[in-house]
Amino acid sequence: MNQRDADHLDSEDPLGSLRDKFRIPPGLIYLCGNSLGPMPLGAAGRAREVVEREWAEDLIRSWNVHDWFGLPERVGARIARLIGVRPHEVIVADSTSINLFKVVNAALHTRPGRHTILSERGNFPTNAYVLQGIARGSAGATQARAVERAEIPGAIDEDTAVVVLTHVHYRDAAAFDIAAVTRAAHAAGALIVWDLSHSVGAMPVDLAAAGADFAVGCTYKYLNGGPGAPALIFAAERHQAELDPGLCGWWGHQSPFDLVEDYQPAPGMRRMLTGTPSILALATLDAALDVFDGIDLADVRAKSTRLTSAFIGLAQARLAAFGVTVATPLDPLRRGAHVALRHPEAYAIMQALIARQVVGDFRVPDVMRFGLAPLYTRYRDVWDTVEILADVLVSEEWRKPEFARRGRVT
Ligand SMILES: *Cc1c(COP(=O)(O)O)cnc(C)c1O
Repeated sequence: MNQRDADHLDSEDPLGSLRDKFRIPPGLIYLCGNSLGPMPLGAAGRAREVVEREWAEDLIRSWNVHDWFGLPERVGARIARLIGVRPHEVIVADSTSINLFKVVNAALHTRPGRHTILSERGNFPTNAYVLQGIARGSAGATQARAVERAEIPGAIDEDTAVVVLTHVHYRDAAAFDIAAVTRAAHAAGALIVWDLSHSVGAMPVDLAAAGADFAVGCTYKYLNGGPGAPALIFAAERHQAELDPGLCGWWGHQSPFDLVEDYQPAPGMRRMLTGTPSILALATLDAALDVFDGIDLADVRAKSTRLTSAFIGLAQARLAAFGVTVATPLDPLRRGAHVALRHPEAYAIMQALIARQVVGDFRVPDVMRFGLAPLYTRYRDVWDTVEILADVLVSEEWRKPEFARRGRVT
């Protein structure tokens, strides 16, 4: 791809007009939508309406009048379409970390006699921390075991209660074959939990076709729900009658306003709720999801594959001479929507890029991540990013001392 090709691809892009639904600062190339999606224009209006009218004017009555009570299910139902499951199989609550705790506990309860939670080494650390915490809390009854990716299918055995994997890896964007791994887990009698944080909204996910049991995932990444937006939980209908989240609160009770002494779980996904949800965050996420109305995720995936292929091709051609290598799988079927480049000075190079208005991010120890979110990233952004990156490397401007300083969030 050259600059002219990039402009041509943008002019022919069937998804090109979606970019106008976002507020992206002029002059900024924003390639961090896999960490924090940009603000959909409709989200600001909805947030204002909830604050000014529903909260300020209607106050407590809004729980009924505006059905705040039903918002976790309504938003969940909209996400269900994006992950290939039925509306009543998804609810939105809490954070991905907390939801992982709940679904793994639910899975353990349905597999008594099995004691192992199996996951991948090097996965996003919060997932490992949650699983280790569950194992500690079980007083030795359960162990959290993490193995290398290649060893996963072979490591699922008769003691494995549940396999917990992230569909698209946060660092290199390597993607699991959800259907194949789910089959392997089921063949060994284990359940499976998929973390969709780096795939939901960026590519089609078909959990029903794969026969998946549970899923969790972030909504502030490719779903653009806003910083700290509440997370999704999926449980297949066949498991719902016996779900025990382990973390039980009054919002998951079958009749919370009866205020009775003993816990009786709500039917369906509502029992996966814990306490009072953040209505501001849920309503903002609800509005952000409007961007996906009428969109075919197959088109999103087709564009995403072209964007990542173009980026990888340019990086290999222009950046290899500077010691930059591509960490993301070269086979488009085996990767998600971001590209990871490696260089020993990745941190400083990324800071120099950000100073030039190209915002990607850095992951220890040596990875530069570029999120090419297909709804609003242009082919021209890909071209310009590699141009600017090549310039930063030629000029060595990343050597400036200011680019070595690290903030609290990297
Ligand atoms: C981003 C991400 C999370 C984030 O979890 P929070 O509870 O929202 O902080 C969890 N797991 C994976 C795999 C992620 O990529």
